[in-house]
Amino acid sequence: MHPFTLTRATDPAKAIEAHAGRPGLVFIAGGTDLLGLIKDRVVAPDELMDINELPGLSGIELLPGGGLRIGALARMSDVAAHPVVRERFPAISEALLFAASGQLRNMASMGGNIMQRTRCSYFRDDDGLPCNKREPGSGCSALRGINRNHAIFGWSEGCVATHPSDVAVAFAALDANVVVRNRDGERSVPFADFHQPPEPSPQRDTVLERGDLITAVEVPPRREGRASHYLKVRDRQSYEFALVSAAVAVTVADGRLESVRIAMGGVAHKPWRLTAAESALRGVSLEDTDGLRAAIATTFTDARPLEHNGFKVELAERAALRAVQTAGARA
Ligand SMILES: Cc1cc2nc3c(=O)[nH]c(=O)nc-3n(C[C@H](O)[C@H](O)[C@H](O)COP(=O)(O)OP(=O)(O)OC[C@H]3O[C@@H](n4cnc5c(N)ncnc54)[C@H](O)[C@@H]3O)c2cc1C
Ligand code: SF4
Repeated sequence: MHPFTLTRATDPAKAIEAHAGRPGLVFIAGGTDLLGLIKDRVVAPDELMDINELPGLSGIELLPGGGLRIGALARMSDVAAHPVVRERFPAISEALLFAASGQLRNMASMGGNIMQRTRCSYFRDDDGLPCNKREPGSGCSALRGINRNHAIFGWSEGCVATHPSDVAVAFAALDANVVVRNRDGERSVPFADFHQPPEPSPQRDTVLERGDLITAVEVPPRREGRASHYLKVRDRQSYEFALVSAAVAVTVADGRLESVRIAMGGVAHKPWRLTAAESALRGVSLEDTDGLRAAIATTFTDARPLEHNGFKVELAERAALRAVQTAGARA
């Protein structure tokens, strides 16, 4: 095993400085993803910096105007159970409750959750098979290998992996921002830009650079937030990643959809917004199941399934339909 040291950060500025200057240093929060990656020899850091004692990063607060700020070190279980989150953004609470297990949710942080890496087994297994994300330039074993769990949108020959976070899908639907601090100050990264496409650098998952510390995720005030829902479809009913999932938030007037936000998980390298369907759904009656189905199908003309995951296209369309109907019933 590669030896590493463990340090504890108490000052954000010093933590950022150390991360910027020492390439072998990685932040550790709950450790529920990072330690697995170390054991699977995907990463071999020289130094783990425990960031759990950094001040001011664990809060969950309602912002003036109705937005929500979730500290990067808030635990998944605390966010899921928070009354404001449950009432105003139920899709966020549901996405968290459908993730992992109770024990993991108690340990895992929100910053770590959106940073978690793909569950592609060629990436996770230490078996020497080509994987561009693990070993840049080596190839992609999943492209023509076992790709049942892989992407149907936005993939490249270099990588066909999917992003595994559930709550990231809800954040994408609600146009959240990731708040990042570095030596130059704080910036907000729109959720749509946070996860990188597989080209040109499949080994990079996000836009974060060395010296970047996630401090929070901010969800803007959204009328649609209250009528939101997260639906997750998986091989077994608990403790399993999504085959496909849908986060939907709507407003409804006179029984017709007025505005619709839909993001899907398990289908791409990042939460995938169904922008064509969002436009096509506006004005459709919630009673008109055929109309809803046809509007959702407009996005799926872009789907490019792989050899083993053609079933995901219909599954995702059905999941999106069910999630729209459930969110609509909450409006
Ligand atoms: C068995 C199992 C099942 C799971 N099932 C699900 C599931 O169904 N759905 C789901 O969404 N997730 C699932 N997960 C993933 C789990 O939610 C993540 O492991 C967890 O959220 C990561 O948070 P953490 O605090 O433990 O991160 P860590 O493991 O501590 O860190 C993960 C990464 O994030 C970086 N990092 C952490 N905090 C910051 C920060 N503030 N700024 C910058 N970088 C940071 C670390 O350096 C590291 O690279 C599962 C995990 C396991 C082990
Ligand atoms: S899909 Fe991506 S993570 Fe999986 S083997 Fe291919 S390059 Fe590696």
